[in-house]
Amino acid sequence: MPKVLVLGARFGGLTAAYTLKRLVGKAADIKVINNSRFTYFRPALPHVSVNYMDVEQLKIDLAQALPEKGIQFQEGTVLKIDAKNNKVVYRKPDGSETEEEYDYVIVAIGAHLATELVKGWDQYGYSVCEPEYAVKTRERLMNWQGGNIAIGSGFFYQGHNPAPNVPKNFVPNADAACEGPVFEMSLMLSGYFKKKGVWNKTKITVFSPGEYLSDLSPASRKTVAEIYKSMGIELVHNFKIKEIREHEIVSEDGKTIPSDLTILIPPYTGNPALKNSTPDLVDDGGFIPTDLNMVSIKYDNVYAVGDANSLTVPKLGYLAVQTGRIAAQHLARRLGFNVKIDKYYPTIVCVADNPYENFAIAVKDDTWYGGSVSEAIPSTANHLKKELFTKYFLWTKGDMALEKFLASW
Ligand SMILES: Cc1cc2nc3c(=O)[nH]c(=O)nc-3n(C[C@H](O)[C@H](O)[C@H](O)COP(=O)(O)OP(=O)(O)OC[C@H]3O[C@@H](n4cnc5c(N)ncnc54)[C@H](O)[C@@H]3O)c2cc1C
Repeated sequence: MPKVLVLGARFGGLTAAYTLKRLVGKAADIKVINNSRFTYFRPALPHVSVNYMDVEQLKIDLAQALPEKGIQFQEGTVLKIDAKNNKVVYRKPDGSETEEEYDYVIVAIGAHLATELVKGWDQYGYSVCEPEYAVKTRERLMNWQGGNIAIGSGFFYQGHNPAPNVPKNFVPNADAACEGPVFEMSLMLSGYFKKKGVWNKTKITVFSPGEYLSDLSPASRKTVAEIYKSMGIELVHNFKIKEIREHEIVSEDGKTIPSDLTILIPPYTGNPALKNSTPDLVDDGGFIPTDLNMVSIKYDNVYAVGDANSLTVPKLGYLAVQTGRIAAQHLARRLGFNVKIDKYYPTIVCVADNPYENFAIAVKDDTWYGGSVSEAIPSTANHLKKELFTKYFLWTKGDMALEKFLASW
């Protein structure tokens, strides 16, 4: 029986594993390896930071959820993929190193949040990208009495060479990997601080390493700029953060922004485990270039999905789910199942929520890729949509089977 290893268990890995299982049943031996027994619904971590949800509400126990669906689970940190010899090397929780062979591997270990590239991060940095960051930010925000807050992204160290084997317009150059959470945090802080009575004592500056939200159409960006103006939020473009100090942040070219609290989506680089893998598996940024079926351009039994794949730009859950599903469909077909393979088409689809003010802005935009869809719709229904989406993810234990049919998220 062919053995399939799925590395990583968030949007990309879980979608690939569940979809493949559904399509091939017992015809493949599927094992997921993830560096933690638990996985969390990441799009609601900003909600944790503003004390709207608790991190425990967003948790899935993989050791229970996956075996229930006939998928094996192994907790372990992948150290490298030896693509020439079809092996994955990983460290188990007891510290021992293990090699495991595969017939096929689906790589879904995401990108690396490179906090080490930002001086002062350990002392002054805050974020919402992982559960422990969101909890730490929540403590700080709960005691917030007023002052300057800066919210923004670090630089995206995107790889370019070799390029994925897909249409060029699908993979734009990006300065930031994922600015949706920055937009969402800036909205939800206003609701939270108004409720706490400290909004008029707070000055928020949003910064971007390039043009803010460059993945949206000029019309949508103009709308965002107007929203910020009406809220009194300052917007600073082309601010490549280098250092966080106690009361300011500093860019690579020496500009400063006053900041008593800096909430950062850290710089994104390739995952260290991939940088450590067979060299021609990855591009010059440490991401895996593939074709439109998510098959590595060098090793045809290696698939890459989600943030680990060089073709997903920006790094978006919506694209991770799409690529995870396509990889599973393609592999099922290779295993002899008559499965239709979806066509990859990039679109920015996300919902920026403001739960304390009961609205969210749902964005759908493909203009960055040459398309003509450009929507940014604020409504209470969109806030409810985000809540339902969170519940759906947790109810299915991360199985996004119906995502295709839920319109936009
Ligand atoms: C705060 C925040 C909010 C977001 N909100 C949205 C949103 O609303 N909508 C949207 O579309 N996108 C959103 N995104 C982007 C989205 O979360 C990512 O694009 C998505 O999670 C990528 O999924 P993935 O499975 O490819 O990678 P990841 O989510 O990075 O998952 C990788 C998995 O692999 C594990 N892993 C990593 N390294 C190793 C290793 N060496 N060995 C074993 N396991 C490993 C990780 O623990 C994790 O479980 C948000 C991002 C952030 C940071």
